[in-house]
Amino acid sequence: TPAVRVAEWSDVRAWWPRLGPEEEKYSRGVVGLATGSATYPGAAVLSVGGAVAGPTGMIRYAGGARADVLRRYPSVVAADRVNDAGRVQAWVCGSGLGTDERAATELRCVLAAPVPVVLDADALTLLVDGSMAERLRERDAPIVVTPHDREYARLCGEPPGADRVGAALQLASWMNAVVLLKGDRTVVATPDGRAFANPTGTPVLATGGTGDVLAGLLGSLLAAGLPAERAAVVAAYLHGLAGQEAARRGPVVAADVAAALRPVIARLSR
Ligand code: AMP
Ligand code: MG
Repeated sequence: TPAVRVAEWSDVRAWWPRLGPEEEKYSRGVVGLATGSATYPGAAVLSVGGAVAGPTGMIRYAGGARADVLRRYPSVVAADRVNDAGRVQAWVCGSGLGTDERAATELRCVLAAPVPVVLDADALTLLVDGSMAERLRERDAPIVVTPHDREYARLCGEPPGADRVGAALQLASWMNAVVLLKGDRTVVATPDGRAFANPTGTPVLATGGTGDVLAGLLGSLLAAGLPAERAAVVAAYLHGLAGQEAARRGPVVAADVAAALRPVIARLSR
């Protein structure tokens, strides 16, 4: 297995986008989220919760949980479908999206956009079931996939095993995508054979919806212009710290992790 770099706070600090005085909302990037559904409105709220903590100036939501998202985050601009959402600089697709025909159509629209994408959860299921994973290789704009171990197993036919770095590198190379393999030892791997180990996190993150928060934050970083592997490293690092921060206050649900991103990210500008 090739050398693994352990991500550090100094990397996160160096790679987090700086705000210039000339900034306006569009120059900070626009992230779009095709997440959630009438069945899983919470996934929409949590992924948007991750995105609002990120560096972008605008958030567009396209999906079946508009009312829930807008009630919680009135600054979000919402549409029904991906193709009605307007311009975005990066898409997040999959968390709580469902796997029906409508979801598959939305995934295809996201993949057709010439911008970086995060594929999580149901988007990964749709890739396997629709035999679309192979076709991703031809996509020009970056892709980040965020499987946990079971999603990895479905994509690859076997679980990651003890060599998580090797496993993530293998998927990255096969899909031509950056892989953020989640879990106790989160790893980021690139198609050209680089790997990063994430040192932050806590087992309290093993609770429903925390992955949705991570996907939203990651999308915001991509929309702000970070290269895919840096966006993945920064998102995993800060998400892990937010889990630790939330755990200091008591039992944790995913919404607490989204909320704890704010104080953690505030440390970046100290
Ligand atoms: P998901 O399964 O998609 O909701 O994502 C779960 C999130 O929690 C990911 O960011 C994982 O890295 C994190 N996570 C899950 N279990 C653990 C664990 N035992 N230790 C640290 N992080 C974990
Ligand atoms: Mg998940």
